Amino acid sequence: MRSKELFGEAKKYLVGGVNSPVRYYKPYPFFVERAKDCYLYDVDGNKYIDYCLAYGPMVLGHANEKVIEKVKEQLYLGTAYGCPTEKEIILAKMVVDYVPCAEMVRFVNSGTEATMSAIRLARGYTGRKKIIKFDGAYHGAHDYVLVKSGSGALTHGSPNSPGIPEETVKNTILLPFNDEEAVEKAIRENKDEIACIIVEPVMGNVGCILPKEGYLKFLREITEENNILLIFDEVITGFRLAKGGAQEYFNIIPDLATLGKILGGGFPIGAIAGRREIMEHFSPVGKVYQAGTFNGNPISITAGIATLEQLDDKFYKKTFKSTKKIVDSLNEIVNKYNIEAKVYSIGSMFQIYFNKEEVINYDIAKKSDTEKFMKYFHELLKRGIFIPPSQFECCFLSIKHDDEVIEKTINALDESLKAISQ
Ligand code: PLP
Repeated sequence: MRSKELFGEAKKYLVGGVNSPVRYYKPYPFFVERAKDCYLYDVDGNKYIDYCLAYGPMVLGHANEKVIEKVKEQLYLGTAYGCPTEKEIILAKMVVDYVPCAEMVRFVNSGTEATMSAIRLARGYTGRKKIIKFDGAYHGAHDYVLVKSGSGALTHGSPNSPGIPEETVKNTILLPFNDEEAVEKAIRENKDEIACIIVEPVMGNVGCILPKEGYLKFLREITEENNILLIFDEVITGFRLAKGGAQEYFNIIPDLATLGKILGGGFPIGAIAGRREIMEHFSPVGKVYQAGTFNGNPISITAGIATLEQLDDKFYKKTFKSTKKIVDSLNEIVNKYNIEAKVYSIGSMFQIYFNKEEVINYDIAKKSDTEKFMKYFHELLKRGIFIPPSQFECCFLSIKHDDEVIEKTINALDESLKAISQ
């Protein structure tokens, strides 16, 4: 077992053998040799249908030919300049064209940097210190937001990380998602002190939690009434739910959006996008400092352009239809084997919770049977299906998940859920 050997070796040099906590699961993760379309191939000769897709970015599947071709050309032209390029304008224009709130863009290197800078911008713009964040939302691994956090932090049992000074997070107000009264109360009690509300319009880091009807509209209205900036963290939903992300899907336009994942076509990227009047508070025009050696990196920008160019109506129709097929089948299978579970989905995202309650927030999500989830994960893995190894992540589809792949997946879901129901 080469993966086992490599994991033993990796643990000597890399903390926990991995470079991001969520990649670890018991007894050891498989090590990837290559990936193509909707498949991952491991070093032991196994092939998996991939529903993790690098936690979201690979909407066109792995190793997309057009992206490779364009990136190859760019590699020979140089990989980092520390000077502006025309391609940055092309990708920025695409973002401005597609994303409703975007009048201007700043490219950074990750979603983490994007949310950190967006929050700083909101504080600089409003002159206020406090921010509202929702329990279980994950906005990256920086100090302002790593409290009651989702994703790997929750999976590995440390949603509040040591090493973050109380002083830093005393300005982060934590509220339950989908609870209008909690927001009203917090705003009342912190009158004129709140710079922004940052929200994942669909919570993709505690599984897949949907905003209840009217909730995003409520957030838009109450922030407007109180001169609070509304930030949609669209690192997952951007370009996935629609070309204009969740803001287009739900027709609610925030002041700022943070983007990442799909925007880089499989290369590292992040972006802050929003109204010109706010964005121009970033240096060098304004005083809110934001900078990066690799900001607007030509490789990521090139891959981003080549990816967004391929996201047409057909892409959305096909990925949504395939997701619906899986989700309908999942519901049937759950009923057939009498399993206590809830399935949620939107666009090309879905997740099953081993939970008897409707999952509308973090507290309820946390009550899910995570042991059962990991059994389900391993049953699927045995059958050649790779999903994110956590109850608190979300499954994603790409354009390469065709009918045959969906059929295979449904069969594997049936067998796996049958196995864990016995
Ligand atoms: N925001 C959301 C909603 C995310 O899902 C993530 C990562 O999963 C981030 C921010 C952080 O992005 P990155 O991992 O690129 O730093």
